[in-house]
Amino acid sequence: MMTQGDEGWPGQSWYESQADASVDESGLASDPLVGERFFDVAIVGGGLAGISTAISLLERGVDSICLLEAERPGSGASGRNGGFVFAGYSLSNDGLIGQVGTDDAAVLHGWTQDTVALIRRRIDRLGIACQANDAGVVLADWFGDDARLQDFSARMGETLGFRLDFLSRERLRQFVDSPRYGAGLFEPGSFHFNPLQHIRGLARTLQQAGVAIHDRTPVRRIERSEGGWTVHCDRGRVRAGEIVLATGGYDQKLRPPVQRALQPIATYIAVTEPLDGRLADLLPRPVAVYDTRFAFDYFRPLPDGRLLWGGRISIADRSPAAIRRLLAGDLSKVFPGLADVRFEHAWGGWMSYARHEMPLLGRCHDGLWYALAFGGHGMATTTLAGEILAEALTGQGERIDCFRRWQPVWAGGLAGRAVVQSRYWWLQARDYWREKRSFRQKR
Ligand SMILES: Cc1cc2nc3c(=O)[nH]c(=O)nc-3n(C[C@H](O)[C@H](O)[C@H](O)COP(=O)(O)OP(=O)(O)OC[C@H]3O[C@@H](n4cnc5c(N)ncnc54)[C@H](O)[C@@H]3O)c2cc1C
Repeated sequence: MMTQGDEGWPGQSWYESQADASVDESGLASDPLVGERFFDVAIVGGGLAGISTAISLLERGVDSICLLEAERPGSGASGRNGGFVFAGYSLSNDGLIGQVGTDDAAVLHGWTQDTVALIRRRIDRLGIACQANDAGVVLADWFGDDARLQDFSARMGETLGFRLDFLSRERLRQFVDSPRYGAGLFEPGSFHFNPLQHIRGLARTLQQAGVAIHDRTPVRRIERSEGGWTVHCDRGRVRAGEIVLATGGYDQKLRPPVQRALQPIATYIAVTEPLDGRLADLLPRPVAVYDTRFAFDYFRPLPDGRLLWGGRISIADRSPAAIRRLLAGDLSKVFPGLADVRFEHAWGGWMSYARHEMPLLGRCHDGLWYALAFGGHGMATTTLAGEILAEALTGQGERIDCFRRWQPVWAGGLAGRAVVQSRYWWLQARDYWREKRSFRQKR
């Protein structure tokens, strides 16, 4: 078994199988850093947090930017995820209200709702071909508790101004036809897309505007130097006035005081063989679907007639064969008729979580900016972080101040990982018993 921190992750994603690794169809081509270069801002990490920060800076007139990525833009979680673009944080909506009160929660949640729309607008404005599918996202109820779901939908509307349309069991079948689900909620405005094409499209926009992207350039050391920062790489270095750390769950060594607050958590995806007409019966509308359990399944149709199926969270990564085996069992619980299908691709990726499950967004005492810990709700929140960091870097610090209450608290190292895994088992066991109870009540 591989451990977090090893190079890459075995199992090429379906997204990568579609794209040439060196020069993709978007025309993105970048080289490792060689020699010394000077910029206003250096960004470490070419995931969506880093790339979004660069885009948002560019939109505010800052164009002396260098982005340093250890592998390729989108090689981390941002280019290998489920492709759901929806509002909210990894911390549950009720958890957010509990921590900050209804009014502040509504503001914070509202920013993620606005960001979903921002991502969609940018895709159109920048002409990014990323298979954006506006059919929406559906939350399907695993426990058959219609009243609870209806109550949740009403409460989210009243408290957060977050619209979730209730779908009765019969209505849900018009979106996803599985005997496994009760009722559902439709999240209007949300969408799904090919995350690798999306991030590469954004990177191409940056390059065309003169932003320096150096990939295959792992940053080895960052130090404070006269007038700013020096960023040391294998064959060169960058001097910059400001630095942003956006390394996701893929690094914990560059800046230990911040990064030791991170728990790298794995989740897994597999993609079926083309299913021809069978998929249209199961997903009459091409929505992306997830369910109401803690460790939910998530799935969506792909443009070539395949089903992308994701699920499970754990502190361990797994081989593609193990991912196929686990996810095949999950798939057949929801769609028994697909028990015979083959997964042609299987992979995993690291998300980064802080103990409080909110993003880490702020500045260290020595001036280093960081944008980390987006967990499983990263598409909207990383893009939002890019906007907020760009605001702060151009002198508007109001929104970033709202994230001060979520400081980088030590995640507990190896013992912390064991605690996290135990908590996940406990939450999954709780869901298991809730599921059993709901079956008993139905009988
Ligand atoms: C399998 C999976 C499915 C998911 N599904 C969804 C979903 O459907 N919807 C959703 O909203 N979120 C989803 N997420 C979560 C989301 O993908 C992440 O929260 C988000 O992409 C995090 O972005 P990031 O930029 O912080 O990190 P990353 O995308 O991981 O980027 C960090 C980058 O930093 C680079 N890096 C690390 N160390 C260095 C270094 N020393 N020098 C240079 N570069 C370095 C890495 O190579 C990497 O490219 C999923 C995540 C996974 C893993």
